[in-house]
Amino acid sequence: MPDAATAPPWSSRVLPERTRDPSAVERLGAVLREHPGTLVLTGAGISTDSGIPDYRGPDGTRRVTPMQHGEFCASSENRRRYWARSFVGWQRFSRARPNSGHHAVAALQRAGVLGAVVTQNVDGLHQAAGSPAVTELHGTLAEVVCLSCDARCARDALQARMARENPGFEGFVRGQASDGSRVSSQIRPDGDVVLPDEAVAAFRLPRCLVCGGDALKPDVVFFGGSVPRERVEACFALTDAAPALLVLGSSLAVMSGLRFVRRAARRGIPVMAVTRGPSRGDEHMSVRVDGPLAPTLARLVSREAA
Ligand SMILES: [Zn+2]
Repeated sequence: MPDAATAPPWSSRVLPERTRDPSAVERLGAVLREHPGTLVLTGAGISTDSGIPDYRGPDGTRRVTPMQHGEFCASSENRRRYWARSFVGWQRFSRARPNSGHHAVAALQRAGVLGAVVTQNVDGLHQAAGSPAVTELHGTLAEVVCLSCDARCARDALQARMARENPGFEGFVRGQASDGSRVSSQIRPDGDVVLPDEAVAAFRLPRCLVCGGDALKPDVVFFGGSVPRERVEACFALTDAAPALLVLGSSLAVMSGLRFVRRAARRGIPVMAVTRGPSRGDEHMSVRVDGPLAPTLARLVSREAA
């Protein structure tokens, strides 16, 4: 759970539920003890306590429709809509801090219980918690790449530039429209928020400082896009070298994560998961804890990394 003093204002403070099968945590600890350096695959569930909501609820249904890769590439208007909303959402997204789940993973890595981390998240919170050896499977929101000329820049720098070029947007950033009405402040996993169409139409789309084009894209894999081949191969190599695989906070709804679970299962190494609700990889799991992540990881740290 986020610390009350540092919890971002949009963070939901929900009491942890009970883990449905407490003995599953014991079994998880036992398998980890026998397989030091277990590879970790994390999903959105580990960042929800930092105030970054999951695209899917615990029942696996999609709650919001994220920007699709093809849609983003298709038109300047679609990119304008993305950047206007993302400009506003970034103010809050960039203030998110790692929670006790991220810190527990880092502690278990330092103790040698866990090995490398492959994350499907784009929020940089594992690194912020001090985790060594993190591969960001879907990229990072902290960087921006030009689709026309491949020039790269830091998101913070682009954010400052968008602020200068869109002075009227400060009200939206504060959560208020110029007529005094409230702007929806529901933040999304990609840092997006909902904005009215007229606000989007007025937004000045940022241009690439190198080629002048308007095809700047956050360096993340959108839905419908593909993970760069060399990154996939690097993660397959980690899977092939790992003694076991532990999935944390992912329903494995997309193939991008599921393929590593299948690869590990084919190799015959133990596959474990701590996640809320069912996952698409359940048939491959030797231990599955259906419960909240942070308290489960805290129990593991107290026993395995003390
Ligand atoms: Zn460019």
